[in-house]
Amino acid sequence: MREVVINLTYLLASAMFVFGLKGLTHPRSAVRGNLTGAVGMLLAIAVTLFDQRIIGFEMIIAGAIVGGLIGAVFAIKIQMTAMPQMVALFNGFGGAASVLVAGAALIESGLVDITGSMTQLVVATVASGIIGSVTFWGSLIAFLKLWEKLIPGGAIHFPGQQVVNALLAVVCVVLGALIIIDPTQISLYWILALVAGVMGILLTIPIGGADMPVVIALLNSYSGLAATATGFVLSNNVLIIAGSLVGASGLILTSIMCKAMNRSLANVLFGTLAPAEGSATADEVYAGKVKAASPEEVAMLFDTAQRVVIVPGYGMAVAQAQHVVRDLANFLTSQKGAVVEYAIHPVAGRMPGHMNVLLAEANVEYDQLKEMDEINPTLETVDVAMVIGANDVVNPVARTDPKSPIAGMPIIDVDKCRTVVIVKRSLSPGFAGIPNPLFAADNTLMMFGDGKKALLELLSALKEG
Ligand code: NDP
Repeated sequence: MREVVINLTYLLASAMFVFGLKGLTHPRSAVRGNLTGAVGMLLAIAVTLFDQRIIGFEMIIAGAIVGGLIGAVFAIKIQMTAMPQMVALFNGFGGAASVLVAGAALIESGLVDITGSMTQLVVATVASGIIGSVTFWGSLIAFLKLWEKLIPGGAIHFPGQQVVNALLAVVCVVLGALIIIDPTQISLYWILALVAGVMGILLTIPIGGADMPVVIALLNSYSGLAATATGFVLSNNVLIIAGSLVGASGLILTSIMCKAMNRSLANVLFGTLAPAEGSATADEVYAGKVKAASPEEVAMLFDTAQRVVIVPGYGMAVAQAQHVVRDLANFLTSQKGAVVEYAIHPVAGRMPGHMNVLLAEANVEYDQLKEMDEINPTLETVDVAMVIGANDVVNPVARTDPKSPIAGMPIIDVDKCRTVVIVKRSLSPGFAGIPNPLFAADNTLMMFGDGKKALLELLSALKEG
């Protein structure tokens, strides 16, 4: 009876994870989806507490309180722009937990009655050890790269890197086989975790700073796989299901990000993102062609603009300009009678959905957000396109220069609008490190300045005008 209640509750919790994920696919249902998943997790934890056999309730509750408090502090203090490194750290913790739990189960296996066969336990333990350790150390490096305080954010290469990685992979396989043959060799398990950790570090260091979000999505997927393996170690169905869901969704996210950047996963993991030789330099693209405009001059453009499109990018997140952007849009709609929409590129910012999250935080109506594919065919009828802190996602070289690092990446075609206003601090490049001919186009005006400050000035110029 006890088993039946436990398994039925696990089934219910798993169904809630699935419905939670489904809810997360749309901003309108995202909060409900998040809550559904969280309640599912609470159920799963409560039932596991009920089912606990090895350690007491006190230890589990103490662990949940300490972990919960640390998580809450992180969640409250974290800046939106630092979200990718927080996700990296949390993935890493998931990986570390898998290594430790699987290792502990291996030690315990000789001492207590563990359900499930010994072969399943040992094979799953080896998988947990390898994937979990790669995830932990890889995520730690990803976190440090994004943090940029202890190590630089760029790619770090050394000769023979791929050969060393291949050797480490072989050592992991050999160690894993030895553990499966003789599971009493507990020390081999920790050596395996150590070697896999070195592999995790070496696989992550050659990846450049701004490619890290893709790698983080991949490491997220690994943390799910490690959890699944640990689920097999513990014969725990809910852990197997939850881990598989994380593994699959992380992989789908990785693939979406690669597709939106028009790059293969292999290129992200093993290639470098650099301007191609022979591409135009910044001087060649900009010299004598860039037109700067003051907020007062830009304000005059809006007097006659009937259709306005706002294109947010990473700089809007850095400047935390989303609230001013919303005020500007509301003013243009209510006082100038313009139709204002937001054009959202799938990889604008530094994480999927980055712009949606920021604009939702500023209470921008979801109906005003238009996806790239929906808005692109209509851009020729737009009077003013306002690009705020976006660069690569509006760079026309993606269409015109096959040698460019962003060649083929779908972009928001703002260059086709009647007038384009770019708000950014300088002519510095974006993540791809290449000049943007849009800034020198005939129909473009540059409004230089920090995103938030420049928009506040524009808004007061509009109000005075
Ligand atoms: P970019 O990185 O291309 O450009 C951002 C621009 O913002 C910079 O040129 C910078 O110019 C400007 N900026 C920075 N701070 C401020 C500020 N305070 N005020 C105003 N402007 C500012 O961003 P995009 O969003 O256009 O493109 C995202 C890039 O990131 C793409 O190349 C994408 O492939 C990549 N990427 C995205 C991922 C995702 O999931 N979203 C994942 C991985 C990569 P200046 O310094 O002159 O102000």
